[in-house]
Amino acid sequence: MRLLLAEDDEILSDGISKALKQSGYVVDHVASGADADHALETGRFDLLILDLGLPQLDGLEVLKRLRARKQLMPVLILTARDRLEDRVTGLDYGADDYLTKPFDLPELEARVRAMLRRGQTQSVEVEYGPLRFDTVSRKVTADGELIELSAKELALMEVFILKGGNVISKEQLIEHTYRWDEEVSHNAIEVTIHRLRKKIEPHKVNIRSIRGLGYFLEEEQ
Ligand code: CA
Repeated sequence: MRLLLAEDDEILSDGISKALKQSGYVVDHVASGADADHALETGRFDLLILDLGLPQLDGLEVLKRLRARKQLMPVLILTARDRLEDRVTGLDYGADDYLTKPFDLPELEARVRAMLRRGQTQSVEVEYGPLRFDTVSRKVTADGELIELSAKELALMEVFILKGGNVISKEQLIEHTYRWDEEVSHNAIEVTIHRLRKKIEPHKVNIRSIRGLGYFLEEEQ
């Protein structure tokens, strides 16, 4: 899952990014409304966390433009306590939920999870063969046994399980697991896939590749 965080407060955005990354989300961060608008126009995100008080372009304007482009991704707005009016306008402009600053990170995470679930109209658990991905606890189990995964491995595993055995290109995998500001070395994604493969192989699921096309999950018969 790829999230865009538009927030100009450095300390707050660092905290939010860190917490969400630890849960295996890919978080791209922009600190101005203009950058947010540009990112939303050109990138593909599953959710937007939008501060309303942004420099260059107001958060409400970013939201208005987003919805005018018929982009339907869920939007969580962050507002200051004394700006009730903005909150109402934000919801009118098509925001899905809001949080009033200051808030606790676990609460933000809970909102994000709930919004992503709503958007997908899928159940809490997604399965592929013996693999089970719990979208609430963000844990992967196989045959009931927890598989310990790094944040990157978890991000990859999520894409694989959601794709349910269909082929995913390397570009798509990179898009789902790396932020813009992270350097993607040529082999990095292969190394992560290799590690992931080792972890799920004992459960008779393999990650297969088709040269030039991409990767897919396959259950051993
Ligand atoms: Ca702000």
